[in-house]
Amino acid sequence: MNFIKKITSLTLITVLLGTSGIFLPAQAKSFVEPIRFTQVEQSEMNMDKLALKTDGKITLFENGKTDFAIILPENCTEELLKAASSLQEVLCEMTDSNIEIISENKASTAKKHILIDTALNTKRPAFNDADDGFHITVSDEVICICGADSTATANGIYTFIEDTLGCMFLTPDDTYTPKQKSIYIEKTDTNISPKTKWRDVYAYETTDNNWGKKLRLNGIKYSSDETQNIEQMQYEGWGTWCHDCYDYLSPDEYYETHPEYFSQVFGKRVTTYRGRDAYLCLSNPEVFKIVKNAMAKKMAEQPDKLYWDFIGSDTPFLAGCRCKNCKKADKAAGGTGMGTLLPFLNKLARAFPDKYICTLAYLHTLKAPKNIKAEPNVVIKLCSMPGDQASSYFDGGNADSAEFKEQVKQWAEITDNIVVWDYVVNFKHLLLPFPNFAVQAKNQRFYEENNIIGVFHQASREIGGEFSCLRSYVLSRIMWDGSQTDVAKYVSKYITAYYGPAAAPILEYMNSCATQLQRSNKSLGLYDRPMKHFSGYLSQDNINDYLKKIEQAKQLAGKDKTLISRIEEVELSVIYAQSLLPGIGKAKRQKILDRINSLCEKRDITMVCEWESLKDFNNKTLRNTVLLERLELAAPYAAAVIIIAAVGITVKAVKKKKKKKQSAAV
Ligand SMILES: [Zn+2]
Repeated sequence: MNFIKKITSLTLITVLLGTSGIFLPAQAKSFVEPIRFTQVEQSEMNMDKLALKTDGKITLFENGKTDFAIILPENCTEELLKAASSLQEVLCEMTDSNIEIISENKASTAKKHILIDTALNTKRPAFNDADDGFHITVSDEVICICGADSTATANGIYTFIEDTLGCMFLTPDDTYTPKQKSIYIEKTDTNISPKTKWRDVYAYETTDNNWGKKLRLNGIKYSSDETQNIEQMQYEGWGTWCHDCYDYLSPDEYYETHPEYFSQVFGKRVTTYRGRDAYLCLSNPEVFKIVKNAMAKKMAEQPDKLYWDFIGSDTPFLAGCRCKNCKKADKAAGGTGMGTLLPFLNKLARAFPDKYICTLAYLHTLKAPKNIKAEPNVVIKLCSMPGDQASSYFDGGNADSAEFKEQVKQWAEITDNIVVWDYVVNFKHLLLPFPNFAVQAKNQRFYEENNIIGVFHQASREIGGEFSCLRSYVLSRIMWDGSQTDVAKYVSKYITAYYGPAAAPILEYMNSCATQLQRSNKSLGLYDRPMKHFSGYLSQDNINDYLKKIEQAKQLAGKDKTLISRIEEVELSVIYAQSLLPGIGKAKRQKILDRINSLCEKRDITMVCEWESLKDFNNKTLRNTVLLERLELAAPYAAAVIIIAAVGITVKAVKKKKKKKQSAAV
């Protein structure tokens, strides 16, 4: 009996300790380099060095006066005019004075010139850098910024504004501008090019008010027109984008007469599967002919577009066409849908040698195929699924990041044209704190070492994602400057500029969040449920600590309404996490929910998840999430009770049997 009691107690203790995490399998170390943010000295923010007149520097402004004028070519594009106007605005604001913009034919009226030009203008030396970099010369009489075209030259102007003058394009509406009546700058004569050729941060804010251009992203159209579709604006340079195979061969046009053009699933040709688009049968030669002709037609309509997507549907449960020929090709390639897709793309690439033919390595086509190389003009957009934002792909510190690291290495054997599609967002909880800054420079290093030509950082497409502007800013800098970017410096400078006297507690909040995530040794994924982190960086204790820091920031902000509003953006993320904690009680949860609603209303935030609205969150998501998480939290205890009950019943039965035996023996 004592033995059975011991077993029962041990079982109970094991289950209970298991729930507290002590006996949970240890995860691999995340290998994240420590990264700490600290408030930046005021002298650095003010760019005091600009006011130091030393040997070798040229005088741009002295006591609010300048001999320079900004000179624009006569055939100036709108893009270039916007960039030049930005330069004029910041110089005027910095010096509290004025600098003129004049056309090239009136340049002689100015003593000294800031020449804004493109190599298209034959009067200037050509600068043939296809990577939208630029040449900059700073000499006594002339500052010349010249790129191969308007975009490249605009990149030069925005780089000059930030890197030479010390301004920061913080958000679509806020530019940090230091104040200096005198500006003396170093002479230079150099070429500057981005480290990543194609750069995009997919976020609501980057399309707004020319901000994406100021961040030197070249995958984005910009607009101040709010009615424009953000998705349409996120792929400048691409003729077609994403899940588009039916745009080339439509089920409406062909299914009735040629069902064999479409994917076979369980012996039947289908155009939809479980309510979503199905796929094409890529081993059918007629399908290739139709797609090729349709693509040629689209290319003729948009001759300036260089990149053309051919991508299957976004249907996670469907592994392409399962007809005999498709299955055979996929199997021969090592069990990947690329067995049929890559040869199909290669044929398109040979048919259109002056274009790039692009696809997603995603879902059933994620895995690299064996024994097939891609044509030189095929581009693979490789999705980091499941991906991880807590340990870098360079280190591959946990199973998810290690898996993606391996995928990149395998794909790099097949093609030189990889665009990494990384997820810097929690799609389920767009407002949840997402401390992923520490891994970004190392990820970039990994991309550079594997010749990645482009990076698509998918963030939140909705208004007001967590630290959306800061994240877009930092990722843009990293893609332009490369892996040597000092992320801690840029985050620190950004937060100091944006939160002013309230910066220190916000920086401490960010440090705490990142440290607690790191200590938990958990991955940070695109579909993470908050519960995964309730024993880590989103624990009740940590959330209380974050809220204290936010309160300190508010005290320091005093009555500055702009700063208070910015601090409330951080508060919104933290209380969003708090509202999902299972044990906080109904009344408190309602109070938090009221606050979330009021903060969201002030910011026009209507979506808190990629596919669900704030209204849904109020009505059901919050309640369901908490209920589900309560059940999950209770599950091990329930299991313990069941085990104890089972052991008890067994003991009773054994005893009864023994007694019966004894009675029989008597
Ligand atoms: Zn097939």
